[in-house]
Amino acid sequence: MDLSRRSFLKLAGATAAAATLTGVGLRKASASPSEPLRIKYTKELHTVCTFCGVGCGIICNVRDGVIVNAEGDPDHPINEGTLCSKGSAHYNVSYIYDEKGNPKPNPNRLTHVLYRAPGASSYETVDWDWALEEIAKRIKDTRDRTLVETETVNGQQVTVNRTNSICWLGSAFCTDEENYLFHKMARSMGVINVDHCARL
Ligand code: SF4
Repeated sequence: MDLSRRSFLKLAGATAAAATLTGVGLRKASASPSEPLRIKYTKELHTVCTFCGVGCGIICNVRDGVIVNAEGDPDHPINEGTLCSKGSAHYNVSYIYDEKGNPKPNPNRLTHVLYRAPGASSYETVDWDWALEEIAKRIKDTRDRTLVETETVNGQQVTVNRTNSICWLGSAFCTDEENYLFHKMARSMGVINVDHCARL
């Protein structure tokens, strides 16, 4: 079919309108008047999306300690109620809805430590205490082995106290304050390669 630019735009507009009307009709048909509002009897908590440096505001609705809904905060000056696809999926980090629309823990959420030993081809589940101890031990060992205390700059010995053998990444799942503490800790050990996906 030959379409001019004008008729293409007309067709696209008509299709979008039809899709919207169909959607409204479907929603009306499926919504039960007796169905309780998902956010009924919930406590509203305001938070900030942790996925990137934009910092969109999110409202979480919590009932009996369980988040039952999360959506963009319309009063937030940055996103004014909108969220991108990552922010919109925030709720699903912990919970998903069952067939009846009730929240249940997301079975795909990782809640234990997976460890792949050097040379191994698969992961094994290990406990948190072992993992934390092992991480601390290896960081200290690497740092002590590779710390450069002084360096010659312009013919003079200066104190540098740094290691180039460790790279430290902050986490978008942490608050600014937590990332600030990570940064302080990394610097105190002489780690100079510090980064974060949102460059915080
Ligand atoms: S909602 Fe999207 S744009 Fe906003 S902070 Fe989260 S990831 Fe960034």
